[in-house]
Amino acid sequence: MLKKRLKKPVKTIYVPYMCDHCYALAAAYRAQGIPAITLPPPNKETLALGQDLCKGQECLPCFTTTGDIVHLVRQEEFDPEKAAIFMPTTTGSCRFGQYDILQKELLREQGLGQIEFITPSASNSYLGLGDNPVRMRQLIWQGAIAVDLLQRLTHEYRPYECQKGETDKVYQLCLDHICGAIEAGADKRLVEAMAWAAKQYEALAVDRRERRPLIGLVGEIYVRLNAFSNQEIIRQVEAAGGEIVFASLGEWFHFTTWDYKHYTALMDLYVDFFKSTVSEFYQNYTERKLVEPVAHLLRFPHETPIGKLMENLKPYYHSDLNSEATLSMGKAIDMFKHDGACGIINVMPFSCMPGIITAAMAPRLRADLENIPWLDLIFDGQEGTNLKTRLEAFIYQAVQFQRRKKAS
Ligand code: SF4
Repeated sequence: MLKKRLKKPVKTIYVPYMCDHCYALAAAYRAQGIPAITLPPPNKETLALGQDLCKGQECLPCFTTTGDIVHLVRQEEFDPEKAAIFMPTTTGSCRFGQYDILQKELLREQGLGQIEFITPSASNSYLGLGDNPVRMRQLIWQGAIAVDLLQRLTHEYRPYECQKGETDKVYQLCLDHICGAIEAGADKRLVEAMAWAAKQYEALAVDRRERRPLIGLVGEIYVRLNAFSNQEIIRQVEAAGGEIVFASLGEWFHFTTWDYKHYTALMDLYVDFFKSTVSEFYQNYTERKLVEPVAHLLRFPHETPIGKLMENLKPYYHSDLNSEATLSMGKAIDMFKHDGACGIINVMPFSCMPGIITAAMAPRLRADLENIPWLDLIFDGQEGTNLKTRLEAFIYQAVQFQRRKKAS
C-alpha cells in the first residue's frame, strides 16, 4: 500500500471550504509536501450552481460543496489531470457518505469524469492522507484545535471590543500565523504560535462591565460552522446583543474517537480498542499543550469530555443511537449546566434527520433546564426575511432568563 501511495504523481488537492479549519487542513497537506488549496467560501452563485445540478433530495451542504467543486472545475486554468478533490466520507444514515458518489457522477455527466476524489474515512484507513496518514491526522487534529481556540477567543472578545472590527483583524492575523506554523511542522511551533496569538488578543481593548447573555450554538456541523449557510448566525446573535459559546469542530473528532473506543470495547476488539485509547491520549495531550498559552484568556479553557456529554443525555436518549443528535443534546445540556448559557440555538439544514430529532426532544430538555429559551433554525439556502426579528425576540427572552437566574 505504501509503495502504491509513493508511486502516485503528486496532484494538487482542492479542499471545499466548510470553515476556517480548512485552511489548517490545506496547511497540513503542504507540511507533508503535498500541494493543497482551500477553495473560497460558498456564495450565492456556487449555491445556485449546486442546486441546479443536484437532484433535489440532497441537504444544503451537498448543494454548496457540489457548487464549489463544479465552479472550480469550470475555471479555464483548471487541469483535471493534476487535481484531486478532498471529500471525506462516512458510513451510516447521514447523507454525507453519498456526497462523493453523487459529485463524481455529476462531474462525469459534465465530461470531467477523470478527476480524482480523495475520500479518507476510518473504513479505508484514511487513504489519501499522504504517505504518513498517522502524522497527517496528527497535523489535522492540531490544526482543528488551534482554529477552535482562535474562534472561541474571538467569540469572547468581539462582543465587547471597544474598537469595532479590531477582533476580526486579530483573528485573521492569528489564523495566518497558525497556518504558517502547521505548514512548518506544527507541534512546538504551533504552541509558540498560540502563545503569540494570546498576546494579540490580550492587547485588544474590551469593555466587559455589562455581560451579555451567553447563547449556546449547537446543531449540524456544516451549517453550524459555515457562515454562508447559516446566514452569519454568530454575527447576527452578537448584533442582537448576545454572546456565542459554540460546539467546536474538535468536539466532533473527540466524539468519533469516543464512539470508536466505546464500540470496540463493546465488541471485544482489543487491538482496535488499544488504538482508540492511544488516539484519545494523543488528542487530550496535544489539546492541553495548545490550550495552555491561551487558557488565561478563556472563560472555560477546557471543553467538557464527550463521556460527560453522553452522561447528560442518559435520561432522554441512548447514546448508542449515535448520531449528531446525541452530541447536540448532550452539549446543549452542558452549555446550560457548565457554561451558564441563557439560550440555545439549534441549527440544521432542511430535512436533516439529526437536527429534527434534537428539535423534537427540545421540549423535554427545556423542561429540565428551567425552560431555557430555545430556538430551532432550519436553513435551506433561501435567505429568510425574518431571522433578524426572531433573533431579537429570542435574545430578549435570554436577557430575561439571565436576570431571573441572577436574581435566584
Ligand atoms: S447531518 Fe444532515 S445535513 Fe449534514 S450531511 Fe448528514 S443528512 Fe446532510
